[in-house]
Amino acid sequence: MNTDPRRGLPSVDRLLRALEGRAPGLPGWALREGARRALAAARSALEAGGPPGDPEAQALALAGELARPRPIRVVNASGVVLHTNLGRAVLAPEVAEQVAAAASAYTALELDLASGERGERGAEIATLLRLLSGAEDALAVNNAAGAVLLAVSALARGREVIVSRGELVEIGGSFRIPEILGAAGVTLVEVGTTNRTHRRDYEAALGPRTGAILKVHRSNFALSGFVAEVELPELVALGRQHGVPVVEDLGSATLVDLRAHGLPPESFAPARLESGVDLVCFSGDKLLGGPQAGIVLGRAEPVAALRRSPLARALRLDKLTLAALDATLRVLLAGRAHELPTLRQLLEAPERVAERAAALASLLRKSAPPGLAITLEPTRAPVGGGSLPGFELASTAVALAGAAGAEPLARALRAASVPVIGRVVGERLLLDARTLLPGDEDAIEAAVAGLELDGARDIR
Ligand SMILES: *Cc1c(COP(=O)(O)O)cnc(C)c1O
Repeated sequence: MNTDPRRGLPSVDRLLRALEGRAPGLPGWALREGARRALAAARSALEAGGPPGDPEAQALALAGELARPRPIRVVNASGVVLHTNLGRAVLAPEVAEQVAAAASAYTALELDLASGERGERGAEIATLLRLLSGAEDALAVNNAAGAVLLAVSALARGREVIVSRGELVEIGGSFRIPEILGAAGVTLVEVGTTNRTHRRDYEAALGPRTGAILKVHRSNFALSGFVAEVELPELVALGRQHGVPVVEDLGSATLVDLRAHGLPPESFAPARLESGVDLVCFSGDKLLGGPQAGIVLGRAEPVAALRRSPLARALRLDKLTLAALDATLRVLLAGRAHELPTLRQLLEAPERVAERAAALASLLRKSAPPGLAITLEPTRAPVGGGSLPGFELASTAVALAGAAGAEPLARALRAASVPVIGRVVGERLLLDARTLLPGDEDAIEAAVAGLELDGARDIR
């Protein structure tokens, strides 16, 4: 007799029949996939010598999970304005409207309406970027990684690109300067040391095979102590002397001057152009406050070379992103930068954030389960998204504490129908008010009201 316990598990079809009528709102494809995954999990559990669990309940939970449209809306209560895991910049409502309009209609994406001939996609994006930055020419592609790839490939393919060892950075796991240069078909020539790079290091590396000098912003860390680097104007002078283009990967930058608000000087992209640098590349969805995109500003000739590259076609913007970027740039041109959620959150006065945190705490106290301690706490959070290393924003959070500790609270709030993403600090879960969007308070209230506190009895 076969005693393999896996034989006791139902088939997918039998499990589906058992679920009939129990999940009226769930689509059939999600139920089938949920059932398949639940049975696979039960089989693995049995193989490991454990109990099979409850495949029916698991199938329903998995199907419910699969049936949610992606990406899942969450509340960013982390205090990190540009959270890469949460999709970085949020678009302004009027920007989102322009995207929706472009999505559901035909558009003159590549049609010149005056002549009826084929037009250039994104031609006006270049105009808007020029007007905002003073650059001779501009280009927008899929993301900043793509912009850097395109720039070095178009200017230096088959030749050498010189980079300081202090700038061979990794951003967000998969963007690594040496690997991007490899993918672009150029040879990386490292100069200087981790902490100090001098003009003479670049000079020694410049030669007949040099295709470009690349300067990279250390977006997500800071070097301090015994350090030296060659600033952009000096690199540009050096490049001129040797007839070599200079490209800057700035990472995160704005097109409005926020230096008076304490942002570091290099965060204002137009000021970088004053050095005469050939190209500056940065992200659309970091400090700029728009959609994912890679912005290239620079001199006419190198930008034209990028446009001609075959890679430009592979990295081009889709029409939805183009609509979002166009609308974002128009908000900036109209002098309404504070209407972009990223810039509004970045610039909101700490006192105002504290008021919103206090209002949220009062709201939560009304409906929170007993045993949940709700207090206010001052916080500091980085801007995130590889922006402004070392720069922190003062803010206020609603701190939640329960007898079972902060991790279970964080997990429960992530499991809410609108997940709430806070920050665990010691025994408290902090919900930072700085990064909340209009309407988020209601979602937080619902999530907190639904908490089932383990160990609540121990407190009372
Ligand atoms: C963020 C960043 C990138 C990558 O930007 P994406 O738009 O995410 O591709 C590249 N370089 C630097 C220096 C960055 O900070």
